[in-house]
Amino acid sequence: MSLLIIEMGILAWIKKILGISNMEKKINIILFGPPGSGKGTQAAKLVEQYDLLHISTGDLFRHEIGNKTPLGLKAKEYISKGQLVPDTVTIGMLKNKVDANPDVKGFIFDGFPRTIAQAAALDEYLASQGESVSKLIALDVDESEIVTRLLKRGETSGRADDQDASVIKNRIAVYKAETAIVFDHYAKKDLSKSIKGIGTIDEIFNRLSQAIDSI
Ligand code: ADP
Repeated sequence: MSLLIIEMGILAWIKKILGISNMEKKINIILFGPPGSGKGTQAAKLVEQYDLLHISTGDLFRHEIGNKTPLGLKAKEYISKGQLVPDTVTIGMLKNKVDANPDVKGFIFDGFPRTIAQAAALDEYLASQGESVSKLIALDVDESEIVTRLLKRGETSGRADDQDASVIKNRIAVYKAETAIVFDHYAKKDLSKSIKGIGTIDEIFNRLSQAIDSI
């Protein structure tokens, strides 16, 4: 018993030296799924419930594009064709956003990581902060439903990449070829969970909440 107390004391002392005293580990959720699977809609609700910071790489790129920044102009070349923005650009932008928000309770990563290289960069970066991915939750929606949803969203979103059927097709192909394996990357660490992404917004939100509450 007393040995345990001594061990706990030593642990607290090491944490203090490392500058991580009194710091709770953050909750870092990867919200995963194909384009149009409802990540953005659910992320907005999760932010309210769990007080996490939502980082959507798609939104960050659209913000840069809107401001016509060099990063935005570069990203637009790829996004308009339904391709992925190169990893170095995306990873740099993501790290800047995380770095700028050190005091949050955790993050909801939406649209990132989308490649194995991005997943490895995220793991390494979080580890350097004494953090890790808490869970990857994938919204499972079949392909025909996704195409319908994206075309419908294109009617009002103003997003050119939602209005062109061949660009949508390419985004889905890229998802299958490069992104889907990110699920397996975290499954190997027993961190991946797939939930049904069809139903009402509240039904899906309840499934997500259960997955988060069991972390
Ligand atoms: P959706 O998931 O509905 O396709 P997003 O808003 O997440 O839309 O992303 C829009 C586009 O931005 C993607 O098709 C891709 O070109 C680019 N993008 C977003 N996130 C990443 C990422 N992590 N890596 C590379 N490109 C990305």
